[in-house]
Amino acid sequence: AVKRAGRRQVRRYQPQQDAATERFQLLARDLSLALARQELSLQFQPVFRLEDLQPVKAEALLRWTHPQLGAVSPGEFIPVAERVGLIAPIGAWVLGEACRAALPWGQVTVSVNVSAVQLLQVEFPQVVQQALRDSGLPAQRLELELTETAALYEDDRAAQTMQLLRDLGVSLSIDDFGSGYSNLARLRSLPITGVKLDRSCTVDLPEGPSSPFSRALLSAVLGLTQHLPLDLTAEGVESAAHLAVLRELNCPLGQGHGLSRPLSPADFVALLQAPPRSAVPVGAAAS
Ligand code: C2E
Ligand code: MG
Ligand code: MG
Ligand code: MG
Repeated sequence: AVKRAGRRQVRRYQPQQDAATERFQLLARDLSLALARQELSLQFQPVFRLEDLQPVKAEALLRWTHPQLGAVSPGEFIPVAERVGLIAPIGAWVLGEACRAALPWGQVTVSVNVSAVQLLQVEFPQVVQQALRDSGLPAQRLELELTETAALYEDDRAAQTMQLLRDLGVSLSIDDFGSGYSNLARLRSLPITGVKLDRSCTVDLPEGPSSPFSRALLSAVLGLTQHLPLDLTAEGVESAAHLAVLRELNCPLGQGHGLSRPLSPADFVALLQAPPRSAVPVGAAAS
């Protein structure tokens, strides 16, 4: 923003701010064309049952290949889409595409990320219903991941929409739990079916600087899951050490580069058809 400097002067934008604004505008403009130009695609990262390393879910992760810039990360372009009103059409496309891709997966569930902006749009439950109807995917095989934000806990509309979605038969997980707004007590008040533990906690578990805190958080959520039917997934399982601690603490599900990178739809189907793995190539797969 424009700031007043000492001597009643108006200071100019910093060059970095100019560059950021320019990048934002470029992404906003090109993102509005990305769907029509078929530059968006989905990858699927398997979620494994840690006990026997069977894939039981896969998370749909959005990819944008920009004609000049190459791959732009969702961490960068999703906030742009939210701010310029493109998250609704893009989110609807992701839901439709993810449900269609998941149809031949047997009992395996597909998880789709939904931002708070999407969740708070009144038509969102219809968009979900439409994706299920068009694809023929049973609602029980669709899970929505909701990132923890204040809105999720504090906006009544969010809780009402969540209940509507539960009534459709869709599962709901809190994503990135432990990364900021986490509130164990409030978890109870939301109609959710799962929790995804943020990868910063997982990374910390074996020997990180806040290992005791991360272990305590994981144990607390696990304690909760003994009383509530909550699916717990640890994100960011990168090493054999992570896997060992998670198993020791009886964490049921895990996801991360050490187990599998995000895969193309065809590669995920191939993984489902491959014979069960007895030993996981943790670490080997992380390169
Ligand atoms: P997320 O939902 O927490 O997804 C997990 C992210 O962690 C993904 O990044 C994934 O590639 C990455 N990841 C998985 N395993 C590991 C690991 O072992 N180590 C590390 N360092 N990273 C790992 P990605 O694909 O870049 O997505 C970033 C975020 O963008 C997602 O975080 C999600 O919040 C958002 N996002 C992605 N696709 C969509 C979408 O379709 N809609 C919305 N609204 N948000 C999306
Ligand atoms: Mg997610
Ligand atoms: Mg996450
Ligand atoms: Mg996230």
